[in-house]
Amino acid sequence: MNELIAPDSITPITGWRFWRIFERNLQLRSIFAPNPWPKREKITAECLCRGSSHIEPPEIESNCGVYAYKSLHHAIVDYTREFLAQDPVLNPYAGAIFGKVKLWGRIQHHRFGFRARFAYPDSFIMSICNCCSQPIFFLFEFFAFRLFEEIKILLMDPNYPRAGKKIVKISKGMFFCENCWYHLGKKNGAGISSEKILGIFQEDYGVGVSEKEVWAARDLMIRK
Ligand SMILES: [Zn+2]
Ligand SMILES: [Zn+2]
Repeated sequence: MNELIAPDSITPITGWRFWRIFERNLQLRSIFAPNPWPKREKITAECLCRGSSHIEPPEIESNCGVYAYKSLHHAIVDYTREFLAQDPVLNPYAGAIFGKVKLWGRIQHHRFGFRARFAYPDSFIMSICNCCSQPIFFLFEFFAFRLFEEIKILLMDPNYPRAGKKIVKISKGMFFCENCWYHLGKKNGAGISSEKILGIFQEDYGVGVSEKEVWAARDLMIRK
């Protein structure tokens, strides 16, 4: 993957990334990893390799660590190319929130971004509509947010189906653009408005919207 190892950095660097929102306490989570991002406290990268001994990611040998794009440009270009053209149902970022993140500790540099040891969200820029996958730029566009309860059946041990099953309820956050909300989302119950959800994040995580970054992201997206 052509990586370079940087010495442990104390001064945070800036990255850009997507999160998902889960559960009633509206916790940020990674799109691909299950661990929540604590409120008012840094996240420490965990090694998710099976049977591995990497205890302090990021390491060269594993892919663990907190991921981020190295610039807004890289994030938008990647998102536009990879996902905007797809069927929204297949888009792993549908329903995600996007923003800036501070990274520190050991950092691995990739072609498109970083993998870090520690991180904390810095500001939010946009979310991705669950239905149409279009970006919803904060402060400029109305959106609604809803928690949907999802029921998952987990096998206690995949090798021994008789070991039993566990039923878990997961509340998953969904964002809707104005158009999709009035056509689809609203029919199924009440949502949380744009101002309210951003206010909750400001209170819980101490993180707000960066208007300057929203302008920059819109600009890049429009030019694509
Ligand atoms: Zn690992
Ligand atoms: Zn939409």
